Amino acid sequence: MDMSSAIHATVSAGSKGDVLSSYAETYDRSIREPELFWADQIGRIYWQVPPAVVLDASHPPFRRWFVGGLTNLCYNAVDRHVTDRGDQLALVAISTETNTTREITYRELHDEVNRFAAILTHLEVGKGDRVIIYMPNVAEAAFAMLACARIGAIHSVVFGGFAAHNLAVRIDDAEPKLLITADAGMRGGKVIPYKPLVDKAIEESMAPPRNVLVVSRGLDPDLAWMPGRDHDYWAMRDRLADARVPVEWLESNEPSYLLYTSGTTGRPKGVQRDVGGYAVALALSMETVFDIAPGQVMFSTSDVGWAVGHSYNVYGPLLLGATSLLYEGLPICPDAGIWWSLCAKYGVRTMFSSPTAIRVLKKSDPDFIHRHDLSQLKYLFLAGEPLDEPTAEWIAQALGKPVIDNYWQTETGWPAITLQPGLEMRPVKFGSPGFPNLGYKMKVVDEHTGQRVKPGQKGVLVFELPLPPGFMTTIWRDDKRYITSYFQHFRECVYSSLDWAIQDEGGYTFILGRTDDVINVAGHRLGTREIEESVAECSDVAEAAVIGVPDEIKGQVPVVFATLRGATAEQGARTNAANAMRQSVENRLGALARPARVYIVNALPKTRSGKLLRRSLQALVMEKDPGDLSTLDDPNSLEEVRGALRRGPDAGS
Ligand code: ATP
Ligand code: MG
Repeated sequence: MDMSSAIHATVSAGSKGDVLSSYAETYDRSIREPELFWADQIGRIYWQVPPAVVLDASHPPFRRWFVGGLTNLCYNAVDRHVTDRGDQLALVAISTETNTTREITYRELHDEVNRFAAILTHLEVGKGDRVIIYMPNVAEAAFAMLACARIGAIHSVVFGGFAAHNLAVRIDDAEPKLLITADAGMRGGKVIPYKPLVDKAIEESMAPPRNVLVVSRGLDPDLAWMPGRDHDYWAMRDRLADARVPVEWLESNEPSYLLYTSGTTGRPKGVQRDVGGYAVALALSMETVFDIAPGQVMFSTSDVGWAVGHSYNVYGPLLLGATSLLYEGLPICPDAGIWWSLCAKYGVRTMFSSPTAIRVLKKSDPDFIHRHDLSQLKYLFLAGEPLDEPTAEWIAQALGKPVIDNYWQTETGWPAITLQPGLEMRPVKFGSPGFPNLGYKMKVVDEHTGQRVKPGQKGVLVFELPLPPGFMTTIWRDDKRYITSYFQHFRECVYSSLDWAIQDEGGYTFILGRTDDVINVAGHRLGTREIEESVAECSDVAEAAVIGVPDEIKGQVPVVFATLRGATAEQGARTNAANAMRQSVENRLGALARPARVYIVNALPKTRSGKLLRRSLQALVMEKDPGDLSTLDDPNSLEEVRGALRRGPDAGS
């Protein structure tokens, strides 16, 4: 479709898009007339050269949005706002670990990003080169990302919680020209050196970067430098203080960044994102989903190393000219009120966090919330894993604000299923993230036939082509793996999310867990998520993980590991709690699903991103090698599980 006339009309009218009305109408249009719908959104960002073609879908499952358009993420996120918003805060980086707060205006951000880009250029990084960013959640991580975007280098942020081996695997895949790191991060008051991990990863790697840029925070007195390879960020920044680096205009479909999936289910995939489609999708969602206008404040508690951090700590808010809060530290330090005090101080309008974080807060008194003036706060969005009803209800009640579940994948880049209060606030239904986002042609299909299932029936969540802007474009250097991983599960070529879902009569979608998290009890397939939900119904349960273990008669039986709210009680109370959990599952899902054994522990094995490591748990129960645990959040959790297995179950046998 040749769009020059439509585009011209939108851009010259100076509108940020068409006038969006109700959700149903807007969604319907985005599905029926995707090219017209997205053509209307083009004016939300600045184009050096407007796109010639809105959508090229000639090579499915691939698609190219806004073909021929030249733009730049950094220009849109930074330069564009300097004239009108130079003195407005762009980024506030708060660390309760180092007790520092840095308030950075758009003008200052522009200076920092230019300096950083000059450093990159100096280290011979150019368009198309990969740069790995392995940093704590500090302002320099965002500067580094934006600087890469400015010069057309492809960044790949690796979450700082990953161990040397995880980093080495990603280095080998991305083959970066440069690696950017810090001397150390901090967690719970403890200094965690990063640089030694980088040294180890580079030693292990087959494709080591030529240069390493080190942002020393003065945290590690033993910081070691390798002459010739390692470069001191602060010294270079001083030398290049007044540098200005021109923006590299990129064709809309050139890669902007790679982000590896968590690897919960296997070898991580290098999710590749484009430039123009991503920018347009984010700009749209800032208004429709997150209900943020330029100048308003968004606080995402994510780390920049996750997809949410990329989209809603860095690019989304900045593309819009909003203010973004970046947080390093625990949600309960110095006390469980810290996030709410930041909301009050900066007048946060939209907050974005994860169910895991809320479960941590749930262990504290809600008075920590009530103490702060939250009159400006409108919504709390939560994403990353299933939001169980008890947690959702607890926080909704404590806050007195809508709590909006948000279904995402690293692959999607922006919410795929969500409510859209910026468009039309539909009622929250606990347990459901709501409705498909604009442009997501969603359906729930039978796992065998690929046919759409009836409302209320469980199936696999899939998205039909064309995938919307913002969605991944391919797996880095592996188009084939992209196709086999996601598009070959059904006869029809659709994107499979590999998650189970149910859509109810009212159109609300419920996510039931991953298609590989299924246990087969006496020929019946049960999702671990369903059982976990039932266990969590018990008021004293903080969190539960359910796995299937082999059983001679039934094939598999469910086994529960659960943490309790508050301090773990004495044995009698533990037995009661464990029995209540079994009963709760039986009441909700039937005797078949009744857990064979319940173990109460003080911690569950999880990744740093809060995802339960059910596979490791299962391996421990089966006395097998729990696998690569370098992403483990709390090393004590393994001992907890081993101890519980030695002691025997708190209920069942
Ligand atoms: P890998 O794909 O490498 O195994 P991963 O799937 O854990 O890693 P992510 O992309 O970070 O990596 O996680 C996306 C997954 O998280 C989804 O597929 C889904 O299973 C889960 N998830 C995210 N948000 C929600 C939500 N709101 N409700 C239920 N599940 C969610
Ligand atoms: Mg996944």
